[in-house]
Amino acid sequence: MTVSFRRLATDGKARTGVISTPRGEIRTPAFMPVGTAATVKAMLPENVRATGADILLGNTYHLMLRPTAERIARLGGLHRFMNWERPILTDSGGFQVMSLTALRKLTEEGVRFKSHIDGSSHHLTPERSMEIQRLLGSDIVMAFDECTPFPADEKTARKSMELSMRWAQRSRDAFGDRPGHALFGIQQGSVFPDQRAESAEKLRAIDFDGYAVGGLAVGEGQKMMFDVLDYAPNMLPEEKPRYLMGVGKPDDIVGAVERGIDMMDCVLPSRSGRTGQAFTRRGVVNLRNARHADDPRPLDEECGCPACRSYSRGYLHHVIRAQEIIGSMLLTWHNLHYYQELMQGLRDAIAAEALAAFVRDFHATRAEGDIDIL
Ligand SMILES: [Zn+2]
Repeated sequence: MTVSFRRLATDGKARTGVISTPRGEIRTPAFMPVGTAATVKAMLPENVRATGADILLGNTYHLMLRPTAERIARLGGLHRFMNWERPILTDSGGFQVMSLTALRKLTEEGVRFKSHIDGSSHHLTPERSMEIQRLLGSDIVMAFDECTPFPADEKTARKSMELSMRWAQRSRDAFGDRPGHALFGIQQGSVFPDQRAESAEKLRAIDFDGYAVGGLAVGEGQKMMFDVLDYAPNMLPEEKPRYLMGVGKPDDIVGAVERGIDMMDCVLPSRSGRTGQAFTRRGVVNLRNARHADDPRPLDEECGCPACRSYSRGYLHHVIRAQEIIGSMLLTWHNLHYYQELMQGLRDAIAAEALAAFVRDFHATRAEGDIDIL
């Protein structure tokens, strides 16, 4: 069985559909929670599934260093290792090598770097990245690329994009023929439309199972990101899934889906949950704030997650302030639940050709802000 993508409906540029894999279906637009070190922090896998997630993201960089891809392979692969039998997408490791390691050297061959954990030396290349992702057993494998830093002038961006396109071909060659597994290429080109077009053309010639819009959510801000998303996804084949890496806040996600993106991932809902930040229909609520200390009301009375069903704002405030583990658990659950409900709302709205009304309502409810203080 191969990995395939079926579009079920479109509304403007937005699409809803299903990616079929041997490990299950992924409803799109899809949000992928991030399981950096073979765990979505503070959540059991069955609870992540209960929020509505069809697929998780795993990080090649973190897993190759600890516990190593070879050890995970010996223990039955990443799905069995972390007790998640549904689809997993792994990144290529390139982005985190560049963002997390101090000592690194970029050459045509790949990137040499020292581990941020123990200082050990490693060499990540397109071939090694494909090998690691194969050992992990990833269902959707990402090509190894250089995420062009922002800002980059035209010449620097071009040099980086061209290197990534050569690495894309090497990734394709090293990936080989693996039925049931997909390889996605990554478009680069920074904020330059001609470079984005050239990158898309090169990737199409190599032929991938899906395509990511890379090099965004790296500090350019929402306006500039949307400017690029106004044209970049259209350059990629419309019959293949399009993935926007590392995005984002709820309003980033809504804007990306409006512009034709099918998949996203971000640490924000899980990371923010651990610091007391909740994403709600009415915007961000900071439960550390003293205004919640005596509040017996739920975080969001319309939310069906355990944090909102069974606990008060006063309790959530207390466990977050006291740094109790259950505070991270409840708020991570709530945030992932909110994100997945948002995705379901987007999918339903696209299917009903009512996305514009959904987006208007989304922004209007947020503009009202949090419920008044008691
Ligand atoms: Zn909730």
